[in-house]
Amino acid sequence: MTLAELLPSTGCSAEPVLEAGLWPDGTRLDASDLVIGGVPATRLAARFGTPCQVLDEPTVRSRAAAFVRALPGAEVVFAGKSLPCPEVYRWMAADGLSLDVSSAGELALARAAVFPARRIIMHGNVKTAEDLKAALAYGVSRVVVDSFDEIAQLGALARHGQEVMVRVTPGVDAHTHAAVATGVDDQKFGFPLASGAALEAVRRVAGQPSLRLAGLHCHIGSQVRHVASYEETVRRVAGLVAACGTRVEQLDLGGGFCAPYLPGEPSFDLFGFAHRVRGALNYECAVRRVPVPRLLVEPGRSIVANAGVTLYRVCAVKYGVNRTFVAVDGGMSDNPRPALYGAKYTVRLVGRGGRPRPVTVVGRHCEAGDVLAEDVPLPADVHAGDLLAVAATGAYHHALASNYNQVGRPPVIAVRDGVARPVVRRETEEDLLRRYV
Ligand SMILES: *Cc1c(COP(=O)(O)O)cnc(C)c1O
Repeated sequence: MTLAELLPSTGCSAEPVLEAGLWPDGTRLDASDLVIGGVPATRLAARFGTPCQVLDEPTVRSRAAAFVRALPGAEVVFAGKSLPCPEVYRWMAADGLSLDVSSAGELALARAAVFPARRIIMHGNVKTAEDLKAALAYGVSRVVVDSFDEIAQLGALARHGQEVMVRVTPGVDAHTHAAVATGVDDQKFGFPLASGAALEAVRRVAGQPSLRLAGLHCHIGSQVRHVASYEETVRRVAGLVAACGTRVEQLDLGGGFCAPYLPGEPSFDLFGFAHRVRGALNYECAVRRVPVPRLLVEPGRSIVANAGVTLYRVCAVKYGVNRTFVAVDGGMSDNPRPALYGAKYTVRLVGRGGRPRPVTVVGRHCEAGDVLAEDVPLPADVHAGDLLAVAATGAYHHALASNYNQVGRPPVIAVRDGVARPVVRRETEEDLLRRYV
């Protein structure tokens, strides 16, 4: 008898255990099969093919509900760009959330979901005239303005009383990847607080008879771990709330709340956020003798990331000089995040355990950077035909997918209570050919 067999609970065992916090709520192992939303991954792969993005509906909805519960009186706005899908937007509408869109295209999905316009906010660091016209035509309740040009353009297009928020860059470093750090000075988002541009934007809005200032907005980045970054944002922006010279009814702190991708990574401290940010806001407003604005938050990733799992089929195992590559039937076309930000993932083999050995999971695309996960432990006998599951793929996966190498984009399959149904179907060759003239 080996030590592992004698001590199955000490972590010496080669039997798989599910990493805590990374997989959808209720995900379990059943003889090494991964059961998500009551549906075995092997069955999902057989029925819908691979790659396949699985989305656990109860996990999405319970995360959304957690924000609503943690922040009574606040407006919780789902960042629609993180998982653009009318069915997901319908869940959000039903659960009392509002919706952020950042283009006419995302707005078209919201329209398909019959999302109430009074609960839609339009964003975008660059909005085209078409985006603005689409927003006005649907009657979105608020537009977040991001440049002086846009204030003038929206002012000319809007009818009387269009509410706007001014996007402020507070100069807060949220200690995240540079590609998603949007709150620091000297990047392309928003009006800097430090230069006085934010206050000037408020003045310009006041100078447009068709616009009305509803509030201030900031979004300091994504994968933000520390509540302190938001507290600091509140402290900085409170000065502008007082300086506006008109009542600021809404203060939108954006999204960016972190989600775990690797074992041991923390989830965002939502209750700490609720407590400390409200405290900071009340204090800063009291000191300045201004009414406390209504708080808005815009979570995307923290609602959907851990609700998603991507299933891939292993096509080949290749041997480099110092590395073993496990090549799968997807790659950077369904997940460009490792190439964009060096994002890391947790991968497991579905169907059996085994002594693990580090391998690099790579995609099928014609780029050396088409890597899905580097140095991840998989059973040493991993081979063609095996099924892999990658955790935490609900946010910015379907959203960022492309057709590189003319590979059709994967479906999104919603699961709940043992039932699976596509909410986005797989892209076919006909879909691809439809655009060519
Ligand atoms: C992307 C974005 C969000 C959502 O960010 P997450 O990291 O997904 O929470 C919220 N607000 C704005 C303005 C954004 O650009």
